[in-house]
Amino acid sequence: MHKKNILVVGGAGYIGSHMVKLLLEREYRVTTFDNLSTGYRDAVLGGEFILGDLADKTQLDALFRANRFDAVMHFASFIQVGESVREPAKYYANNVTNTLNLLDSMQAHGVTKFIFSSSAAVYGEPIRTPIDEQHPKQPLNPYGRTKWIIEQVLQDYDRAYGLRSICLRYFNAAGADPDGKLGERHAPETHLIPLVLQAASGRRKNIQVFGRDYDTPDGTCIRDYVHVTDLCVAHLLALDRLLKGETSAAYNLGNGNGFSVQQVIDAAHRVTGRDIPVEYAPRREGDPARLVADSTAARRALGWNPQLAELDTLIRHAWQWECKTTKYHA
Ligand code: UDP
Repeated sequence: MHKKNILVVGGAGYIGSHMVKLLLEREYRVTTFDNLSTGYRDAVLGGEFILGDLADKTQLDALFRANRFDAVMHFASFIQVGESVREPAKYYANNVTNTLNLLDSMQAHGVTKFIFSSSAAVYGEPIRTPIDEQHPKQPLNPYGRTKWIIEQVLQDYDRAYGLRSICLRYFNAAGADPDGKLGERHAPETHLIPLVLQAASGRRKNIQVFGRDYDTPDGTCIRDYVHVTDLCVAHLLALDRLLKGETSAAYNLGNGNGFSVQQVIDAAHRVTGRDIPVEYAPRREGDPARLVADSTAARRALGWNPQLAELDTLIRHAWQWECKTTKYHA
């Protein structure tokens, strides 16, 4: 049987690299296209690797001319909310303009299936919780706006050009490859779970808790942490759906369970057996008190059923990775 040929843009990054690994395990043909601005060549565990930039339309054209891709998955975007406020041009250029370049090349070469990494940031401050896909979209920052702009572009391209897409709105992606081969490697790291584990391993002197006066049971913010491998499985299911010729859609990906910053720290202490020094700090700007997904639609339409939904499991996998990378740093 013809192996489906998938282009993974941003396949050297955190979620992209886990996706490439899973696609290869499931016998897809995979080409990773990445400029390595934030990704790592050694995180791409197989398939073909092309060092390339979405800003380079000539290179994109050559890529699509040389390959017949059945579908494209797009993970290559900047993700730091604070930076997006300070440097919006950087975010609009990469997350919007470069994505349009990719879509143009796809269209020029007759590739009509697209999976897009979107974000809970499209919703902004929740007016109800858990958040379903119909919740109003009022992003609070340029990062969230870039994601919502592309989602709207995709709706228009579907109608006008027949480009079928699935937008996956991630809540808090976390965890690491259960086999220990991959994990989160952001520089600088801004996400809670890897930072807590760096405080546990001693790579960082403490974890700062941003705000303990929120309207939540323990006063710290509540988020919906979803294992990166479960996210990737949802992408496979979405891919399957598109390859079967089904219609475009957008889905939330979360577990529907909220955990507070304090609960994450407690779980990390439980899993690692280490003391985790905490420093209480002011609120971080733009942080809603509670972000929890209603993922009923993804469960129903895609048959998605997260297998690694336990917070302790997710932290155990992230800790395995932290121990491995700390050794590299030591
Ligand atoms: N957070 C924190 N200290 C940190 C990093 C994050 O208290 O050093 C909090 C942050 O305020 C938020 C939660 O942890 O309530 C998750 O933040 P993260 O940056 O991991 O993801 P986000 O929810 O912003 O996508």
